[in-house]
Amino acid sequence: MPEGAPDRSRTALVRRARRIHRELAAAYPDAGCELDFSTPFELLVATVLSAQTTDRRVNAVTPVLFARWPDAHTLAGADRAEVEEVIRSTGFFRAKTASVLGLSAALVERHDGEVPGRMTELVRLPGVGRKTANVVLGNAFDVPGLTVDTHFARLVGRFAWVDAATLKDPVRTEHAVGALFERRDWTMLSHRLIWHGRRRCHARRPACGACPVAHWCPAFGTGPTDPVVAEQLVTTQGRA
Ligand code: SF4
Repeated sequence: MPEGAPDRSRTALVRRARRIHRELAAAYPDAGCELDFSTPFELLVATVLSAQTTDRRVNAVTPVLFARWPDAHTLAGADRAEVEEVIRSTGFFRAKTASVLGLSAALVERHDGEVPGRMTELVRLPGVGRKTANVVLGNAFDVPGLTVDTHFARLVGRFAWVDAATLKDPVRTEHAVGALFERRDWTMLSHRLIWHGRRRCHARRPACGACPVAHWCPAFGTGPTDPVVAEQLVTTQGRA
C-alpha cells in the first residue's frame, strides 16, 4: 500500500468494527431482547408474531395468549378463531395464527412439544428462518447468533462492514459480520445494532449529530449533523 493511502486492511476493518461495538455497548447498557418471554416456546411464538409490528404490541398480547395456551401442546389444539382474536392487534393475524398453530403442531409431532436448541432443527420448523432461529438460540439457549433484520442490515451497510453485494443476501451478511467478531459477542452485538437502529440510526433521517459512533461511521452525514436537530430525532422506545 502506498504511503499515505487509506488503510483498508482487514485488521483495520476488524478494529473499527469492534470499536463501534464497544461504543454501542457503552451507549446502550440496557440493550437486550425487547420481547417478553419466560420459555423458549414463548420466545419462538413472540418472534413469529413480531413480524411487521413493534415488540411492544407483541408484549401486549402474549400474556393473554400464553395464559390460555402456555405450550406447544395446548396451542396446537387451540381454536383458530380464538387465537386470531387474541393476536389481532399485531396485524396479519390470520397468517400469524396459521403460523403459530402449524409451528406448535410440528413441535408436538417432531420434538414432543419442546423447542429444539439447534439451528438445523429450528429452521426445519414451518415459518422459522435463520433470523427467528438466531433470536431463539441467542436469547433462550445462550447459543451465540446474529439476527440479520432490517436494522442490522442497514447499519452494517452504513458502517461498511460488508459490501453492497454481500448485503443483498442475509446469510452472507450474517457470515461476513460474524467473521469480524468473537463468536461469544454475536448475540449482544445484534441487540446493540438493533437498539441503535431503532433509537438513532433510523432508515430515514438518522440522528448523526447525536450519534455515539459518528466518529467511526463512514455514513456520517446521512442524517442531520446539527446536534440540536439530531437530538430531536432520537427516540427512547423501539418503533419497529
Ligand atoms: S453517524 Fe449517522 S449513519 Fe452513522 S451510525 Fe450514526 S446515526 Fe447512523
